[in-house]
Amino acid sequence: MTEFDLIELIRARCPSGRRDVRLGIGDDCAILAPPAREDLLVTTDTLVEGVHFLAGSDPVALGWKALAVNLSDLAAMGAMPAWTLLSLTLPRADAAFVAGFIDGFCALAAQHEVALVGGDTTSGPLAIGVVVHGFAPAGTALRRDGAKIGDRVFVTGTVGDGLAGLRCLQAGEGATLAEAPAWARAAVTERIERPRPQLAAGRALRGLATACIDTSDGLLADLGHIARRSGVGMEIRAEALPTSSAVAALFEGEERLAIQAGGGDDYQLAFTAPTLRETEVRQALAALDCPVSCIGSVVEGESVRLLAGDGSEIVPEHRGWEHFA
Ligand code: ADP
Ligand code: MG
Repeated sequence: MTEFDLIELIRARCPSGRRDVRLGIGDDCAILAPPAREDLLVTTDTLVEGVHFLAGSDPVALGWKALAVNLSDLAAMGAMPAWTLLSLTLPRADAAFVAGFIDGFCALAAQHEVALVGGDTTSGPLAIGVVVHGFAPAGTALRRDGAKIGDRVFVTGTVGDGLAGLRCLQAGEGATLAEAPAWARAAVTERIERPRPQLAAGRALRGLATACIDTSDGLLADLGHIARRSGVGMEIRAEALPTSSAVAALFEGEERLAIQAGGGDDYQLAFTAPTLRETEVRQALAALDCPVSCIGSVVEGESVRLLAGDGSEIVPEHRGWEHFA
């Protein structure tokens, strides 16, 4: 297998068929036709073996996740995804790995009608770089900097499933988790390996949310990004954090709260919206079968505080993931 065989394998395995792709994989550049009167949203995320995923991970799951984490950033801003570029750095020209990876990548791409339009293939330690492009009607994209004092704070889905899944993957058959119910371990493992970017929810929140972020670093850390960019503080009620039955079956008490408050890799949307629009928020998300919970409020200040039922502050050991920390 040469570099060019691998590129041909990739090209042959992924469906094309967006009319706005004038020219896809195979030339020096892709030629793309952006829609008129829309803003272009672009983002990139890198996955490095040993940092973002465990060595020996299933290539199909890895392909899915590499695209999912990028689409989640488009979801956070309310964009409609369109195109993607894939940079693969591979230790060996491993056709089976690439085929599996592309199958996982393209399964998610097909769900959201995203076209793989190009990329780069080089040798080196296993690393994956993905760029995604999406669109939103001019001026409507959601941002981190619009939260207002008095807004409510919401999160879609449940929190803590990503880190719970990682714990299960890392624990393997060891320790107490091995005795936990298999259905619960399977459910959280699915959540970390195949996150589902909340693209429809993000678009539904355009014009409703005042600020939005996807939860990738950890709930408190991600809310902290909104707080900093918006120049506000937040109070989050620990007892309001939505918990899946799987996380409830696997962890309890302080350990569960630490996983939910600080655990990354959830890829849900955390957002703020005016109190007066809560009903609209709930209706818009209910129409998509997307669960949503109000978990707190935006206050004066600059910190995100986690509060117990009696109003006292809980200081978790870990607020979230940070490289170079
Ligand atoms: P160049 O040397 O001109 O940069 P390459 O040989 O790197 O071109 O790539 C040839 C074509 O294959 C380009 O269209 C490029 O976008 C595409 N390509 C290369 N690697 C990938 C990949 N991993 N995924 C998708 N397309 C790729
Ligand atoms: Mg060239």
